[in-house]
Amino acid sequence: MKKTAIFYHPSFSRRSYLTIGNRLADFPAALVDLLKLPNVYMLECKPVSEDLLRKVHTENMIKEVRLHPFCSTADISAGGVVEATELIMKGEYTNAFCFIGCGGHHAGRNYFWGACCFNDVVLSIVNAREKFGDKLRFVILDTDAHHGDGTRELLTLMNDKRTLHLCLCDREWKSDDGTKYDFDVTWVYYNGDPDEQYLKIVDKALDIASRFKHDFFFWYFGFDTYKGDYGSLGLSREVFLEIARRIKRFTDDYSEGNLQVVLAGGSLRELATWLIPKVIKILALEE
Ligand SMILES: [Zn+2]
Ligand SMILES: [Zn+2]
Repeated sequence: MKKTAIFYHPSFSRRSYLTIGNRLADFPAALVDLLKLPNVYMLECKPVSEDLLRKVHTENMIKEVRLHPFCSTADISAGGVVEATELIMKGEYTNAFCFIGCGGHHAGRNYFWGACCFNDVVLSIVNAREKFGDKLRFVILDTDAHHGDGTRELLTLMNDKRTLHLCLCDREWKSDDGTKYDFDVTWVYYNGDPDEQYLKIVDKALDIASRFKHDFFFWYFGFDTYKGDYGSLGLSREVFLEIARRIKRFTDDYSEGNLQVVLAGGSLRELATWLIPKVIKILALEE
């Protein structure tokens, strides 16, 4: 049976995200029905290893993260993401959804900002390659509203041509080797139906991914693009479910699952409570 893991820690619901309220306050209660499904499991995030942190970030940056009041959940946020990839690679789970207390994609080698502390996804890639082989190929699809500058910097410093980084943000750009892309999505806000335009760009990104022959797929899932939130593109709440369905179908077809959803930006508690359980349910359902 295909299994879905949820990585969660109670501190993610206690400590506020950004400075705007506490978006995860209704969890884990909002997962009760979902956890009745026979193939959905909840695991508690453990801290990331110190050794691994030092392979990705500088000593100075790690020290500053530990002192920063917004980064009190940094170690367990990254730890859950790293462990999820490991367990999927071992075949224990088909896919996973990772809650976080602070984000990752604005964390570079020696800096962090924008509610991000340690770069969860890059730490996870470095760890997985060490444990399961350095030829492993990854896709990162970043649908947070903002450019994933930290992730892009780290992948570039690592000269990582085996990771396809597809970032939906505010610029149009492609690397010479065709493994790093930015798609400008800001215009969807002003043109016709934002959902429809945004989904077309997601399809374009997935089409590029279909030729990459990946082993493992990260969806860096922000809902700050929702209408009225701080990165608004005028998107409806339903469009996130459609993106989830398309990515689930895509990874079932191209990598036998091996899909990890990592929570990113988005500040609205009501939306988080409505949306996240539905996204996890899409991961858990057999096609
Ligand atoms: Zn964002
Ligand atoms: Zn970008």
